[in-house]
Amino acid sequence: AVYNLGSINADLVYRVPHLPTAGETLASVSYTRGLGGKGANMSVAAARAAARVVHIGAVGADGAWAVERLLEYGVDTRAISVVAEPTGHAIIAVDDAGENLILLYPGANQAIPEADILSALNGAGPEDTFLLQNETNAGRFAACTASALGLRVAYAAAPFEADAVAAVMPLLDLLVVNAVEAAQLEQATGLGPSDLPVRDVVVTLGADGCRWYNTDTGEAQHFAAIPVTAVDTTGAGDTFTGYLVAGLDRGMPMAQAITLAQRAAAIMVTRAGAADVIPDLKDLEDARFS
Ligand code: ADP
Repeated sequence: AVYNLGSINADLVYRVPHLPTAGETLASVSYTRGLGGKGANMSVAAARAAARVVHIGAVGADGAWAVERLLEYGVDTRAISVVAEPTGHAIIAVDDAGENLILLYPGANQAIPEADILSALNGAGPEDTFLLQNETNAGRFAACTASALGLRVAYAAAPFEADAVAAVMPLLDLLVVNAVEAAQLEQATGLGPSDLPVRDVVVTLGADGCRWYNTDTGEAQHFAAIPVTAVDTTGAGDTFTGYLVAGLDRGMPMAQAITLAQRAAAIMVTRAGAADVIPDLKDLEDARFS
């Protein structure tokens, strides 16, 4: 199974005639509440890719709807703790030109009890995969625990934080970064993707696809993206990583898992929204990519 320690956010999206400036009071034209957060997005993507997914995280007393939605999307939610802090949320203003302004409140995502992480991982082992990002507390603690239990450890270094990356790097089997994060990582460590002490490194390149660096063999392989008309790139990287990790957890070779991940991410960029619109395997089949 995939054990994903990750954020759960309410994405509160307000359409506005223009982005507000300091001191301004602005009425929004519409409002929607979606499920988001990199962690939740990746859990949903991995579940959509037919992996068994255990989400490890936390919400506040106001987060029951988010847990229910994860459950509806096929994620095992029993390791999601309810804590005193309010559920994490993002207040997102989007203007008519598609420009956005985002205010993020981490809340419960930074209050995941370590004891709950330990009990969630109890029983997991070398057949399983542990996944994490940078939107929760206890990343290093959980990665150390998972690594000691023999799980394959995968990490999406997003949003980029040099200290967080350095803390988990020695534990990783797989690192996934986008082009911006790869540049930030190189700035912070002086190492390019092929020089990192991680066996498999995947750098996603948006419409240019991705590159897989196998640092064991020293080989790099480019995978072209599937040509689509992008509408909203929110969650593309999360969908890619969730599918990739699910494929690997299900025993696929890397190239096959990457191909699957790129198909899912290509469909995702044609849809507006986050976790609620991540495609499933049936959607990938119906899309009939050549
Ligand atoms: P992030 O969303 O983390 O910034 P990327 O923009 O690199 O990540 O996108 C992740 C993956 O999503 C890419 O590797 C690619 O497979 C797919 N993707 C992103 N943008 C496009 C696009 N415009 N057309 C087709 N596929 C895309």
